[in-house]
Amino acid sequence: MAIQAGRIRVLKDVEPRDGAYVLYLMQQGMRSRDNPALEVAVEEANRLGLPVVAGFGLLDGGAHFPEANARHYAFLLQGLRDAKAGLERRGIAFVLRRATPAKAALALGRKAAMLVLDRGYLTIQKSWYAEIAEGFDGRLIQVEGDVVVPVDVVTNKHEFAARTLRPKLHRTWEPYLAPLRARTVKHPADDLHLKSDIDVSDPDAALAAMTLDRSVTPVRRFHGGETEAYRRLDAYLAGPFSDYGTVRNRPEAGAASHLSPYLHFGQISPVAAALKVRAAKTGGPEDRAAFLEELIVRRELAMNHVHTNPGYDAYAQAVPDWARNALAEHADDPRPHLYDEEALAEGRTHDEYWNAAMREMRVTGYMHNHLRMYWGKKILEWSPSPEEAFAVTLRLNNRYFLDGRDANSFTNVAWLFGLHDRPWGRRKVFGTVRYLGQNTLKKFDAKAYLKAVDELCRAEEEQSPIT
Ligand SMILES: Cc1cc2nc3c(=O)[nH]c(=O)nc-3n(C[C@H](O)[C@H](O)[C@H](O)COP(=O)(O)OP(=O)(O)OC[C@H]3O[C@@H](n4cnc5c(N)ncnc54)[C@H](O)[C@@H]3O)c2cc1C
Repeated sequence: MAIQAGRIRVLKDVEPRDGAYVLYLMQQGMRSRDNPALEVAVEEANRLGLPVVAGFGLLDGGAHFPEANARHYAFLLQGLRDAKAGLERRGIAFVLRRATPAKAALALGRKAAMLVLDRGYLTIQKSWYAEIAEGFDGRLIQVEGDVVVPVDVVTNKHEFAARTLRPKLHRTWEPYLAPLRARTVKHPADDLHLKSDIDVSDPDAALAAMTLDRSVTPVRRFHGGETEAYRRLDAYLAGPFSDYGTVRNRPEAGAASHLSPYLHFGQISPVAAALKVRAAKTGGPEDRAAFLEELIVRRELAMNHVHTNPGYDAYAQAVPDWARNALAEHADDPRPHLYDEEALAEGRTHDEYWNAAMREMRVTGYMHNHLRMYWGKKILEWSPSPEEAFAVTLRLNNRYFLDGRDANSFTNVAWLFGLHDRPWGRRKVFGTVRYLGQNTLKKFDAKAYLKAVDELCRAEEEQSPIT
């Protein structure tokens, strides 16, 4: 089946030039399968009689992945090892340059007949694309593979809430929910001999050789890579998924997929995941609908937000006026508890459930959605000002979650402060912004959650640290 035209944007419409290969800058979709940008590169290369090179740019110290630390880099390097193996099995070369993605693309692009980009919506990603478009004078194409419906196909405006985006997605998603066939590579890249600056075949050694923030350590709970991502999805659909519709809001029930780190690093395709969910033998229509609501509607609402609001990481721009005004009216309300960032990060509050959630996040890199809401609302309640709460929540989110620094991170943190929500009954500190209190903890077995977190964290802590 042809790749949907709505996924493809020609950024520089010139003929391919003489070159040794077609270059695909593999930056958002770190996978060798179900990757439309890669398949477009293969089609073009076959047409031109050339091999395909998948290039990747990686810098130490989080210079191009702000707030990234050893936890994120370990997962990313594990994923790149897997992607490289998958690419090489198909006859595609993988080359990693110790450079920003834009600089890597421009350097590798000198010998390329044309360049194919994938697509992400964060400001930093857009700045790479702009730099590439400025510096690369050959044919330049961008292919969307990170969402089901390309953001600008659904709407050009900032969506008000899930309820305004949902019908637009439901109207447009069917042609995009189609399987993607792997194209045969007609001209394998065996003779190119391009050298990588970092050897990802040993991710531990690669991580050890990099200069980066090691204060947040890699986790054993999640191993990076497309093989693991698809294995997890299959295991999930064979079991826990069958209760998703009814118990997805119960953190202790184990009904969530834990796919978010894999989606964040592009190690699994949201289209492939949605198709597998649709075809699952377990679960009923309500489980499928609930999962697709999260995977497509909620996730793509976040993409819409960061794409159409460049101020997504700043309180004054990310949070709607009504909510900022409501919170400002209550800025002087006394806070029953105040904690600074260090106390929060270390889980030293009076609330044992909150502390457990923070421990799960700090030690294992993950937290269930229901608790993320409670966790974030409490930071707002326990901070001297909403501005400070916003900054602290975002920093903790992006530092400790494996899926942090995602469109979902910025959007959901802003949700805590009123984005995509409506005014509720007025109360102290929050004004008319939605409040979550102890009742949130009564909706599930909170004691069972404490026990589960303890077991998960002990399993991490009792083993020697990973590099
Ligand atoms: C304060 C706060 C901070 C958050 N920070 C992040 C973050 O940094 N990165 C991140 O990916 N998600 C974030 N989320 C959204 C959500 O909590 C996670 O995506 C989800 O918990 C991931 O677990 P899962 O893959 O097991 O989810 P599942 O329940 O199995 O859902 C499947 C997929 O649907 C998507 N999804 C689920 N819930 C949401 C949601 N509320 N909004 C958007 N997409 C969703 C995710 O891609 C997820 O992987 C945050 C939510 C809140 C309230």
